[in-house]
Amino acid sequence: MRIDLHTHSSVSDGTDTPTQLVRKAAEQGLDVLGLTDHDTFDGLREAKLAAEGTDLTVLPGLEMSCQLDGASVHLLGYGCDPHDESLLNELTRVRVGRTGRLPEMLAKLAELGMPLTEAEIAEQVGSSPSLGRPHVADAMVAKGYVADRQQAFDEYLFDGGPAYANRYSCDIRRGIELIRRAKGVPVIAHPWGRGRAQQLTPAVLSELTMEYRLEGVEVNHPDHDADTRQRLGALATRLGLLHLGSSDHHGLGKVNNDLGCETTASEVYEELVRRVRSRGGRL
Ligand code: AMP
Ligand code: FE
Ligand code: FE
Ligand code: ZN
Repeated sequence: MRIDLHTHSSVSDGTDTPTQLVRKAAEQGLDVLGLTDHDTFDGLREAKLAAEGTDLTVLPGLEMSCQLDGASVHLLGYGCDPHDESLLNELTRVRVGRTGRLPEMLAKLAELGMPLTEAEIAEQVGSSPSLGRPHVADAMVAKGYVADRQQAFDEYLFDGGPAYANRYSCDIRRGIELIRRAKGVPVIAHPWGRGRAQQLTPAVLSELTMEYRLEGVEVNHPDHDADTRQRLGALATRLGLLHLGSSDHHGLGKVNNDLGCETTASEVYEELVRRVRSRGGRL
């Protein structure tokens, strides 16, 4: 079985519609696709419909923007009830923050000699409810300011970069609680990628597991090198956490994240499904 549990569609900052993503996954012979758009469940219905009549199973998920002591942490939730009031309220707050930071980013870009209008951003966002920095990057590409998303991030949009603006995100402890209360399974995405190891120390991961009932971590992720995977895998085993592996595919929007380039073992997937089912969550 080939199981890729962390992917993005154009409902957030991926470049394929949910239908295109599902078709691509089915064509490539994946057995299970987890759709985990940033801070929204809106693509799940379309993905489920697109998978009807194929051999592909869509596992409903999301990737929630959280923070720990001000540093960004991404929390995956699988099998959540997409109508849970508290979770929906929090996701709305996060998305309002995504849009609300735009004027500050545009002011910074204008000062850097790269003026963009809100309309030019809106063109890239399309119908996505979740405005992301990659959309700003796409607008910069369209204007000829940079060659691609990567250059936009490397030079201007990275965390703390010259065109970066902070935004609201959910406290990680509360995020785990919200996902569990919505009958989902919380898993930390790429915990030790891009400098996050400084915040998500073994002691913190242990606390999140023991006191908040975190259930898994992504071990095999393109942002983790071999040594990181080895150390994180050993810690996850010690803490009794599920080990996931996923591509974090964003369509054409990210290099090194080809669909299915990292996968999750079928026993781990089956355990995830068992947990969701036993809580009455949504599969
Ligand atoms: P945001 O959540 O809108 O603040 O933007 C973060 C998103 O930007 C992540 O989910 C990635 O999809 C994307 N991203 C972050 N760093 C890079 C990068 N170096 N190249 C391309 N995309 C990136
Ligand atoms: Fe993203
Ligand atoms: Fe992420
Ligand atoms: Zn992601």
